[in-house]
Amino acid sequence: MFRLSTRLLQHLQPYIFPPACPICQKNLNIDQPTPTPYGCCADCLQGIHIAPTNTCFHCGVSMPESLAPGPCGHCLTQPPPQKHTRNLFVYRDAVRTALLAWKLQGQSTGLHWLLQSSSPTLQQIFSPHDLLIPVPMPLYRMRRSGLHHSADLCQRIAQVTSSQVCHTLLRRTGNHTRQSALKGKQRLSNLRKAFTLTDDYQIQLANCNVQGKIWVVDDILTTGATLRHACKVMKKIQHPIFAFALARTPSNT
Ligand SMILES: [Zn+2]
Ligand SMILES: [Zn+2]
Repeated sequence: MFRLSTRLLQHLQPYIFPPACPICQKNLNIDQPTPTPYGCCADCLQGIHIAPTNTCFHCGVSMPESLAPGPCGHCLTQPPPQKHTRNLFVYRDAVRTALLAWKLQGQSTGLHWLLQSSSPTLQQIFSPHDLLIPVPMPLYRMRRSGLHHSADLCQRIAQVTSSQVCHTLLRRTGNHTRQSALKGKQRLSNLRKAFTLTDDYQIQLANCNVQGKIWVVDDILTTGATLRHACKVMKKIQHPIFAFALARTPSNT
């Protein structure tokens, strides 16, 4: 009797709890529980754009195949503090939906799906000997969302790659003015003093005993200025700095 009930429940489960696309949350067709072999709906799968591979090695901006891996003209005249920049996705369509749901509503199924689906690539980029440093968030944003997004992203990447994460090495300074309230040069000057290393950073680094690369990690790269300034402060540790952003805005790819 018990076995029969369990089997019946298993059969009814898709009807009682219809499977949903992890990105757009729309119910998937019960008769075809996986409309794509990957577990998300076909529309979302089509809306995932992988970041171009022909990019400037330093800043990650896309380049013609014949000129990649750069450096691009901008990096030739003003080399960025990071040695290398990697991105996985273009920030549009399904990737934008997944990241906005995570950042604004705390709904992480889309992000989780994206990272799990990208685990072979993530394991190529990051090694278990690497150290991931999240770009610290301004206090006002942390208060508003209740989540430190880049730190959460680092933990999720580390679950896939077994890399180390250190949240406390790099920090935001003081009560930072909102970037959106500032213009042009003010934004840049605001960013220039936005980050600092903690006083005991040398002890923290020694405790981490990094054998691989040190990555500064952010979720979305728009102009690249935030990541660049965070990497600039990190250069003080006398170790090559690598930069990673999960997604890059289309205007900056
Ligand atoms: Zn979907
Ligand atoms: Zn460049």
